[in-house]
Amino acid sequence: MAFKRIALIGLGLIASSISHAVRRAGMETEVTGYARTEKSREEARRLGLGTIFDTPQEAVQGADLVVLCVPVGAMAAVMEAIAGDLEPGAIVTDVGSVKGAVMEAVSPYIPENVHFVPGHPLAGTEHSGPASGFASLFDNRWWLLTPDEGVDRQAVEKVKDFLTEIGANVDEMEVSHHDLVLAVTSHIPHLIAYTMVGVADDLGRVTQSEVVNYSAAGFRDFTRIAASDPTMWRDVFLSNKTATLDILGRFTEELFALQRAIRTGDGEHLFDYFTRTRAIRRGIVQAGQDTDAPDFGRGLTHQK
Ligand code: NAP
Repeated sequence: MAFKRIALIGLGLIASSISHAVRRAGMETEVTGYARTEKSREEARRLGLGTIFDTPQEAVQGADLVVLCVPVGAMAAVMEAIAGDLEPGAIVTDVGSVKGAVMEAVSPYIPENVHFVPGHPLAGTEHSGPASGFASLFDNRWWLLTPDEGVDRQAVEKVKDFLTEIGANVDEMEVSHHDLVLAVTSHIPHLIAYTMVGVADDLGRVTQSEVVNYSAAGFRDFTRIAASDPTMWRDVFLSNKTATLDILGRFTEELFALQRAIRTGDGEHLFDYFTRTRAIRRGIVQAGQDTDAPDFGRGLTHQK
């Protein structure tokens, strides 16, 4: 059975995309929402994202699904604020990019008669705010759920059905494994992009205008990733320390090996390495997680 009323707490990229996707799916579900600032609430009202309230407590009243869509570091405070106003039997889920720290911080505030099904959509862009969302954001993207063993299976299945209806492929994963996988596929790539753009910014010998005007494909992709929301990414690294430091250590070792190969003129090492990595790209395209169109399909537009 579909949800009657969904409350979106936080009204940025992910929440506004959920709202658009619910509408696109033709669900009769009512959508309510809350954002921290009046500016975002007004924008969300203007965009018709749902019935927007001035407090999170009002937004969750009567909701059978509550989706926490705030930065990872704000999840616990938001959960604490709404705990007393949740409907008995309601399901709370979240969309945080890190799962271990969020579950640890949020779980103590989950009332006895409420189910907590943590989640993470592997979909996003570098944009944020209520106007950045679009209905197709989750299409064919994985949405990972990391529920504790004791969680009511019916609640988990209900969340899965909902996420499938808004376009996502849903899977379950053990929580620490999730944080390790995401350190590899998302968190460290963002850190590398932030670093490379920072290096270019610091480099006195290459001028700012040269960086901007002659930005080649590799650097351009880094700048896109490095334009991601600073609050969100600060929170990701602070809350996924163990896994990100582990992967960063391995990355540094590989980087030193490549540095050595360049210095010693070991072309075989470089060629073999790049051949291996090229195969990974092909695997991602074959799995339908990216397009093989030249320039990563930048000519494609997404629909609201
Ligand atoms: P966003 O566009 O920046 O929106 C964040 C929302 O949270 C805004 O409505 C903001 O309100 C509100 N908020 C911020 N700090 C708050 C606080 N301390 N208390 C209450 N509300 C607060 O963010 P997003 O990209 O949708 O990300 C939301 C969550 O999704 C994050 O946990 C992130 O890790 C996760 N996620 C993001 C992506 C991505 O690519 N962006 C992908 C997967 C998962 P105001 O606008 O009023 O400040």
